[in-house]
Amino acid sequence: MAGDQGKRFASSLLFDKAFVNGQWVSAKSGKTFEVTNPATGELLGTVPDMDGSDTRSAIETAHKAFQTWRDVPAKERCTVLRRWSDLCTQNKPELARLLTSEMGKPLKEAEGEVNYGISFIEWFGEEARRAYGDVIPSPTSSKRMLVLRQAIGVCGMITPWNFPNAMITRKACAAIAAGCTVVLKPAEDTPYSALALCELAKQAGLPEGVLNVVTASRANAPSVGKELCENPIVKKISFTGSTNTGKTLLRQSADTVKKASMELGGNAPFIVFDSADVNAAVQGAMASKFRCSGQTCVCANRILVQEGIYDRFVKRLAEVMNEELKVGDGLEPGTTQGPLINKAAVDKVDGLVQDAVKSGAKVVTGGKRHTKGSNFYHPTLLTDVTPKMRCSTEEIFGPVAAIMKFKTEEEALAIANATQFGLAGYFYSGNIGQIWRVSEKLEYGLVGANEGLISATEAPFGGVKESGLGREGGKYGLEEYMEIKYVCMGGI
Ligand code: NAP
Repeated sequence: MAGDQGKRFASSLLFDKAFVNGQWVSAKSGKTFEVTNPATGELLGTVPDMDGSDTRSAIETAHKAFQTWRDVPAKERCTVLRRWSDLCTQNKPELARLLTSEMGKPLKEAEGEVNYGISFIEWFGEEARRAYGDVIPSPTSSKRMLVLRQAIGVCGMITPWNFPNAMITRKACAAIAAGCTVVLKPAEDTPYSALALCELAKQAGLPEGVLNVVTASRANAPSVGKELCENPIVKKISFTGSTNTGKTLLRQSADTVKKASMELGGNAPFIVFDSADVNAAVQGAMASKFRCSGQTCVCANRILVQEGIYDRFVKRLAEVMNEELKVGDGLEPGTTQGPLINKAAVDKVDGLVQDAVKSGAKVVTGGKRHTKGSNFYHPTLLTDVTPKMRCSTEEIFGPVAAIMKFKTEEEALAIANATQFGLAGYFYSGNIGQIWRVSEKLEYGLVGANEGLISATEAPFGGVKESGLGREGGKYGLEEYMEIKYVCMGGI
């Protein structure tokens, strides 16, 4: 099944079946769907197009596995996760090549994502051994009061295409470390990284049924999601993706009062104050805006620059964009900007740019589709952007830096917070009082103060407002998959 010789793309970690109960399986319907390389259009292969009925079977498998996995001592769960992370490390080049081939990001970024993914396997294995309970001083001499932390149960997970490796390990490894079992649906565009992780988990000795991956086309995603949300066996739903889909999943989960973690969309402000170091701010903007060709939930979406530094910042950003950004196939050396995920994404980005230009924005560089192919877009710098333009109110999810001018700190904060989203916010300032004030006043779950790259395994990741519920990573990530049980012992 791995590395089908008949296809142009061959990999020892390419699997063309879904993974349920430790076995490679087809959809009950026998249907499959195609996965292509977004840079070249090359067919990578096909995977099963599963639906709600296949998902129900996977949930029952996960439920059976939970009965034993939850009682495996934390130290043993940690050992399995350690072996899994070692195998991922040994297979890092192949995991990265697979990731770039299905998702498009430059190989260097794919290697970075695989490292990030591995770090969650390690981290949660270690954290499992520190899932302490409590002994509470009792108000009564005849009673003793204990708090136990126990695995929630079967967890349903749905992940997006922009981080096909790390979004899987950040969720699934927290759950598995806690003693839960998992049924996960990866995005239609990027199932192969998830399946490769399953193979390495199997080799590491993860018991059958603990991790199950159900693959599905975009047409079948709603029926898989509905089953994960409505099936009473599933005790938790964890989702990363758009706010609209997250709201649908929350509604569907209401009847079973499921616990939910939601990592949803953002609309990150990136504020540059007059007192900022202009070169540092430009480097921060480059990292935050152009990573993954602008397709991350924490990408700077609205760049607000104070009037005294505006011209210098725009000039320097344009220079650095022209010097550093190279558009191409992510597998080609030197590429920093891969394709967008599909043509619909390019159409959306171009629509936002055209809308801004029609409403008075100026194109400093880019502003058009790229000749490399239908999925490529020129890195673009727009100035004279206003808060009402669609590129300010919607998530751009593409390589477009949209810059607007402001006069005062109050004005910048008002613009920055005037959105229903609250995932990441950034600002650059050389004034310590302002750094405190703005850090406190930004209504965001993640704040970068003089820093454009803020995600870390050890830190909590998540949003406020309509950007989500719960936190992933850090010491908080494990808690999302554990229940607190209070035990009161009487008759002492
Ligand atoms: P999306 O359309 O919501 O898709 C995400 C996942 O949900 C995919 O697996 C998708 O399957 C599935 N899905 C879509 N509709 C569904 C339904 N009705 N029922 C069940 N599953 C469904 O999001 P996207 O546009 O691909 O991803 C980009 C979004 O994700 C952006 O808004 C970004 O900000 C957000 N994101 C957030 C974080 C975070 O941590 N906060 C991280 C990364 C991305 P298909 O692939 O088959 O459509």
